[in-house]
Amino acid sequence: MIFFRAMGCNFVRLYTKTLVLNQKKGYMNNLSKKKDTLMYSNQDSEKLVFNDNEWKKILPADVYHIAREKGTERAFTGKYWDHKEVGTYYCAACGSPLFNSNGKFESSCGWPSFFEPLNKESLNFIPDNSYGMKRTEVTCGKCNAHLGHVFEDGPPPTGLRYCINSVILDFKKEEDPE
Ligand SMILES: [Zn+2]
Repeated sequence: MIFFRAMGCNFVRLYTKTLVLNQKKGYMNNLSKKKDTLMYSNQDSEKLVFNDNEWKKILPADVYHIAREKGTERAFTGKYWDHKEVGTYYCAACGSPLFNSNGKFESSCGWPSFFEPLNKESLNFIPDNSYGMKRTEVTCGKCNAHLGHVFEDGPPPTGLRYCINSVILDFKKEEDPE
């Protein structure tokens, strides 16, 4: 009896593990299929220099609008403004890792808000005086896509608020430790 119970238990564990692995594999396949381009990589950090026409051919229209035309998604409409899962946020245009959920905070502004990036070198900071405002634009250090702006009204320890469009972010959940 104990033997059978142990067998059953192992079988369930094995089955669950296989299921989880298959789900992960499926997820990764989908992601690489969606992003199977020369421009997209989560590992390669070499700077990309392509013109807008080239980007237009490969980016979905909404991503192109934010990345290359400096668009802004409507507040409270993006997929990540209220997103709380643990993991990494990548540039949706080129795949460069930009932010971690550790650096995200709940802001009432309606866009994903971070108090620090993964690494300041992975971003460009550009003075932006458009619309009569003095702001600092943040772009992707690898592909120069417009991401959003950084403001000095964030929480400690940095006092900064990186206000980023969800459309230009890809999120990957942290893998469970095996
Ligand atoms: Zn990028």
